[in-house]
Amino acid sequence: MPAPSNMHPGPNLSLTPEHEMIRQTARDFAQREIAPVAGHFDETGEFPAETIRKMGALGLMGIEIPEEYGGAGMDTLAYVLALEEISKADAAHGTIMSVNNSLFCYGIYRFGSEPQKEKYLRPVASGQAIGAYSLTEPMSGSDAGTMRSRAERQGDVYVLNGRKSWVTSAPVADYIVVFLMTDPEKKHRGITAFLVETDRPGFIRGKKEPKLGIRASATSEIVFEDYRCPVENRLGEEGEGFKIAMAVLDAGRIGIAAQALGIAEASYEAALQYAREREAFGQKIGQFQGISFKLADMKTRIEASRLLIYQAALAKERAKTTGERFTLEAAMAKLFASETAMFCAHAAVQIHGGMGYSRELPIERYFRDAKITEIYEGTSEIQRLVISRMELGLR
Ligand SMILES: Cc1cc2nc3c(=O)[nH]c(=O)nc-3n(C[C@H](O)[C@H](O)[C@H](O)COP(=O)(O)OP(=O)(O)OC[C@H]3O[C@@H](n4cnc5c(N)ncnc54)[C@H](O)[C@@H]3O)c2cc1C
Repeated sequence: MPAPSNMHPGPNLSLTPEHEMIRQTARDFAQREIAPVAGHFDETGEFPAETIRKMGALGLMGIEIPEEYGGAGMDTLAYVLALEEISKADAAHGTIMSVNNSLFCYGIYRFGSEPQKEKYLRPVASGQAIGAYSLTEPMSGSDAGTMRSRAERQGDVYVLNGRKSWVTSAPVADYIVVFLMTDPEKKHRGITAFLVETDRPGFIRGKKEPKLGIRASATSEIVFEDYRCPVENRLGEEGEGFKIAMAVLDAGRIGIAAQALGIAEASYEAALQYAREREAFGQKIGQFQGISFKLADMKTRIEASRLLIYQAALAKERAKTTGERFTLEAAMAKLFASETAMFCAHAAVQIHGGMGYSRELPIERYFRDAKITEIYEGTSEIQRLVISRMELGLR
C-alpha cells in the first residue's frame, strides 16, 4: 500500500480519499478472502496463517508504523477503518491484527530503543513475524499489581520465571512483550517490560485456552523457567512496565472498539436483511414494531460508536505531536462500542429466531465473538472505573 500524505479528515469527519482507499482495500480483502473461510476456522480453531500472511503483505499488520520500520506509515483513523472491515468478516482475524498492530508494534515504536525497533519491530510490522503482549496471569488480571512472575537481574541478563495466561497469538508468536515483577514490594511500580524471543531456552508454550468465540485466534499460557533475557531486551527502564502496559492498552482499546464496531455492523446488516425477507402472520417481520425498533436502536448505537471511535482515533493522532493523553477517549470508545456489539449480536440472534441459533448461519458466531470485546484489554467495569476516575479527578 502506498503511504498517503495528509490523512486527517475535515471537521465534519468526512474521510479523505486515502482513508476511503484503505477501507476499500480492507473491505475487498475481507469479503473475498476471509468471509468464505471464517466459519471453517471458527469450527476447527486452527490459526488462519495463510490469510494473516496475506494481510501482512497488504500492509495491514503494522498500519501506523512508519515505512522505515516496515509499516504502512498511515494514521490511526486508517487503522480503525481497516480493522473494522476485517472484523466485520471475522472477529478472530481482527483480534490477531489488533494485537500485532497495537499491543506489539505500537509499544515497541513508542518505547523501544533503536536496536529493538530494527530487530523486533521491522519483521512484525511488515507481517513477516507475529507479535504478542503478555500482562495477565492466572491470579492477576484487572489488578496487574498482584502479578507473581519474577525477573531477577544477574549481571547483564534478567532471569525470568513464572506463568502468564491468556496470551493472544502466543502459540504462533515469534516475539512477545512480557511484563514481570522486578521489585514485588513496589507492586505495580515494580513491574518491568521485556522483549522475549520464543525460540530460546526457558520459554515454554503452555496450555491452549479453550474459548467461547474468536476461536481462530490462538491463545495460550506461557511459562518461563530460568529464561535468560539480555538487559538490552528490557523495554524502557526498570519499574516502568505498568506505565508502558497502560499506555499500550490505551492504543489497543481503540482497536478493540473498531473490532466491536465491525461485529455490530455484521450483526445489524444480517438482521436488516432478514427483517426485510422473513414473513410471519402475513407480513414481513420488519413491519412489526417489536422488530423495527430493535433495528432502530442497533443503527443508532452503531453510528454513536463510530463517532466515539473516530474521536478517539483523532485524539491519538493529536497525541503524536502534543503528547496529550487519550485514555478517556479510548476507554469511552471501547466501552460503548463493545456493549453495542453485544447488544447488536443479541438482537440479531433474536430477529433471526431459530435460524439465529443455528450454526448454518454466522449470526451465532457474531454473538459468541461479541462477548470478548467487553472483557479483554480491560473489562467494561474497568473502563467505567477509568472514565469515572478521570472525570472525578481521582488520578
Ligand atoms: C480471549 C482472551 C484473550 C486475551 N488476550 C490477552 C492478551 O493477549 N494479553 C493479556 O495480557 N491478556 C489477555 N487477556 C486477558 C484479559 O485482558 C483479562 O481476562 C481481563 O483483563 C480481565 O481479567 P481477569 O480475567 O483476571 O478478570 P478479573 O480481573 O478477575 O475480573 C473478574 C470480574 O471482576 C470485575 N472487576 C475486577 N476489578 C474490578 C473493579 N475494580 N471494579 C469493578 N469490577 C471489577 C471484572 O470486571 C470482572 O467482571 C485475554 C483474555 C481473553 C478471554
